[in-house]
Amino acid sequence: MSDFIVGLTGGIGSGKSTVSDLFVAAGAALVDTDAIAHELTGPGGAAMPLLLAAFGPSVADASGALDRNAMRQLIFSDTTARKQLEDILHPLIRQISSERCAAANAPYVILAVPLLVESNSYRERCQRIVVVDCPESLQVHRVMSRNGLSEAEVTAIMAAQATRVERLRVADDVVHNDADLINLQQQVSRLHAKYLRLSAEIAKANC
Ligand code: ADP
Repeated sequence: MSDFIVGLTGGIGSGKSTVSDLFVAAGAALVDTDAIAHELTGPGGAAMPLLLAAFGPSVADASGALDRNAMRQLIFSDTTARKQLEDILHPLIRQISSERCAAANAPYVILAVPLLVESNSYRERCQRIVVVDCPESLQVHRVMSRNGLSEAEVTAIMAAQATRVERLRVADDVVHNDADLINLQQQVSRLHAKYLRLSAEIAKANC
């Protein structure tokens, strides 16, 4: 049980997963809303019966998982479908992430939320917000090589997210991910020490 939740966010390709893994290696618990969304929509996932009831059998693949391409096409051609999808998934993700934060067995929890800046309900849960930041050109480059997307596709995704300035405005701490992984590790180590200190202060005050 941990009373200290650090919200971690950043734009696509900024390095959220990489930085989250470094925090876990240092000893933090991780609750990742993207991973929860994947669990919910994987084979036998708790959201699948609701998605099949709402959208029909074409949104599942042979394994029973969400067929992401089919869903993407549906959302593209039907604007209410996106809202329907979010109305099914978001409350489940909120509930499960909240339960996992409460059950976490570590001095503090990293709550990774890609759209944290866009969401008041997640921001309110966090004692602190750490933003993973890098120049937009680097984001584009990383996502093009990681996902095999075109530059236009990556910039379209980025345009639908909060801007770099908006994210930095809500940040209590910033991880600058524009150098190598050793540099990243050093920044995470410093923040880990800080979060251990802050979580111990909170635990002491709550005694
Ligand atoms: P996000 O979770 O924010 O989308 P990732 O952590 O998946 O971003 O990083 C995007 C890609 O860039 C991944 O392939 C990752 O391995 C790579 N990457 C991230 N940070 C660095 C870095 N400092 N040096 C080299 N590659 C990096």
